Amino acid sequence: MKGNKPLDRDYFKRKANPNAKKGPQLTECCKQDVDRNILNKNNKNDWELIEDYCEETLQSNSGTETITPVCCKVCGRLIEYVSTLNYKSWK
Ligand SMILES: [Zn+2]
Repeated sequence: MKGNKPLDRDYFKRKANPNAKKGPQLTECCKQDVDRNILNKNNKNDWELIEDYCEETLQSNSGTETITPVCCKVCGRLIEYVSTLNYKSWK
């Protein structure tokens, strides 16, 4: 069955490895798509980007008091940023 169908990453993954599972592969620990390039706190360069993001957010939003990069405890992938707001600045 050739042609007339979209070729996606899965197609080439299965072509390279016919036993590969269908659909995006998720990490066991945090269910993140392994093919997505996600920042990882265990990577020095990534951590600098994460810090930069937090610093920028704190500097540009005076209402933000703290910002926490929430990372997977097993593999270190960045899952989300959680920020706390400084309600006193909301005047
Ligand atoms: Zn993980």
